[in-house]
Amino acid sequence: MFNRSRRNLARWFTLSMGGILAVFAGTLYYQEAIEQLEVIDLLLYKKARVIAGNVQYKMHQGQMRVFLKNVPLLGSNPPPPDSEVIYARWYDAKGKLKQFFGVPPQEHLSKTFEFQTIKTTNYLSFSSSPVIWLRQITLPVQYKGHLIGYLQMAMPMTRAQESLSKFLLLLVLTVLIALGVTSLAGWFLGGLAMQPIRYSYEQLQRFTANASHELRAPLAAILSNAQVGLLTNIDNSSSKHLRLEKIAEVSKSMNTLIGNLLFLARQVGRLAPESLHETDLNDLLRELISSQSTRIAAQHLDLKSDLPKQPIVLKADSELLYLAVMNLLSNACKYTPAGGLVNLRLFKYHRVVIQIEDNGIGIPAADLPHIFERFYRVDKQRTRAAGGFGLGLAIAQQIIEAHGGHLSVKSELGQGSLFQIELPLN
Ligand code: ADP
Repeated sequence: MFNRSRRNLARWFTLSMGGILAVFAGTLYYQEAIEQLEVIDLLLYKKARVIAGNVQYKMHQGQMRVFLKNVPLLGSNPPPPDSEVIYARWYDAKGKLKQFFGVPPQEHLSKTFEFQTIKTTNYLSFSSSPVIWLRQITLPVQYKGHLIGYLQMAMPMTRAQESLSKFLLLLVLTVLIALGVTSLAGWFLGGLAMQPIRYSYEQLQRFTANASHELRAPLAAILSNAQVGLLTNIDNSSSKHLRLEKIAEVSKSMNTLIGNLLFLARQVGRLAPESLHETDLNDLLRELISSQSTRIAAQHLDLKSDLPKQPIVLKADSELLYLAVMNLLSNACKYTPAGGLVNLRLFKYHRVVIQIEDNGIGIPAADLPHIFERFYRVDKQRTRAAGGFGLGLAIAQQIIEAHGGHLSVKSELGQGSLFQIELPLN
């Protein structure tokens, strides 16, 4: 129980810290991507300014004309070997393509100063991927305030992408390591948080165990006195006899309650391996059925059992397991009206399963999540009359969990209930 809560605390702590880390890492990555883009844009802008600065606009045959002869990339000089520019294009003031270096354009020029990210098929030798991303600038070029044309050029984003991928890998690794550390811290903090709860729980358990133990002796005295009184008072109809009978009956019932409370207070956690012995479940269930046969016949119930031919043997505390199944079987009989059917099944897949099914009164859906709680009874009047304290299921669950198993229930009001015990094979 405490370990489950501790695990849950650690899990939620790790998840929430993981969420915060992921948002933080995402923001860092976004910032880095923007910075990389700004670096490319600045470089591209500087290169475009240098090229545009070499464009000549002068009088020729009585008309002002643009000369690109001495312009890097667009002119007659070969491009420098270290130029990263993929293409450069010159458009006239009307947006008509006049000269280009690299690949010709596929779309019309948009006549505004802008940076664009373009995805294109790879025609570069230095990258093996089938597509590459380019950053393109479109720069309107003016001479003395007069628009003389547009320069468009692009550079690959490969280097920025590579550095971003490295950054992403670093971020992922950092987040994973931080998550690992966080989950360890969560586990440790969960342990610290559970300490006072565990302490008060243990105190409560100790108090219940001690109080129950102390109540046993006076109760035994009351019961034995009542029984002696009954033996000496032979007149069965006298009011004194009836009172003594009532005292004996209530004392017995209190004795059962104290026994149950003692069990719940003492049996905490998993059973020690030395208390587990090879137990043949077929035998155990057959014995249980025969012990209940008189009661079942008296209640006019039909008890069917479906046990496998081969024995199913596992390590268990047979007395405790017997008590758990007994509680479930006796509930099925208690809450099934005369003429009803109770089914007991045993089978094995990767776990051993014992099912106790009845077609009795069933349990309302609102009560189902609580029925394993101590002293919880669905219909208090009715269960009290049936002799129940609301501890039978809590005891059964504690026993099954002490064996590393799981007890679950499915029920429908008016239709019946199915209690299922799952036990690990080893
Ligand atoms: P009790 O000793 O009062 O039967 P349990 O812990 O065994 O206490 O059961 C808790 C409550 O669950 C009962 O009061 C009863 O209302 C309900 N319950 C348990 N088993 C069944 C069943 N097979 N069919 C209907 N109700 C059930």
